[in-house]
Amino acid sequence: MIARRGVCLVLAAASGTGKTSLSRRMIAADSNLALSISMTTRAPRDGEVDGVHYLFRTQAEFDALVAGNGFLEHAHVFGRSYGTPRAPMESALAAGHDVLFDIDWQGHRLLRAALPGDVVGVFILPPSVDVLASRLRGRGDPADAVARRMAAAVAEMSHAGEFDHVLVNDDFDTSVGELTAILGAARSARHRLIGLGGVLAGMGVG
Ligand code: 5GP
Repeated sequence: MIARRGVCLVLAAASGTGKTSLSRRMIAADSNLALSISMTTRAPRDGEVDGVHYLFRTQAEFDALVAGNGFLEHAHVFGRSYGTPRAPMESALAAGHDVLFDIDWQGHRLLRAALPGDVVGVFILPPSVDVLASRLRGRGDPADAVARRMAAAVAEMSHAGEFDHVLVNDDFDTSVGELTAILGAARSARHRLIGLGGVLAGMGVG
């Protein structure tokens, strides 16, 4: 067994692309892959549990962590603070655990800067704009709300070119297979391997 550093697998997509279902499947299928838990100052929604969906904190607690350089990245979204706490992520990666991030293009850019070499970014596209539009239409939502969602989706997709991989989520199982392959390749990337010298020495090489 070659010891290695963990992978930060970032999934980004316009909403309505199926990213959440893909993330859930990836986490369920792989015991060495866990979802990153962000900290936020927004209130929990029904069914959300502190420490599972988010770390729900006050603005003062959040700001104290910012002041202590305790975040890998943090951002303001819809008037609330969100961030990825530094310490748990550093220890997970050092222990060889892989972490999946379900974040937007901004979070990806910041995370890539904070953890160079650790991040593998995947942007997930819908099969077509028509499919996306019908998913975003919802049930009887007003036209202006749908138009706003569509504009946000197009804005998110305009950043697809910043990612290492881009895949079209046409078929769920095919996309899971592609993500699994990307994660597998990232795990064996030479720059992540810590114990390669020892393994080679054990084989009489070197
Ligand atoms: P929600 O409040 O609906 O769960 O999330 C709102 C937005 O915050 C989403 O676009 C989500 O991607 C973003 N977000 C959640 N956690 C983080 C984080 O740790 N860092 C950043 N930059 N954005 C986050």
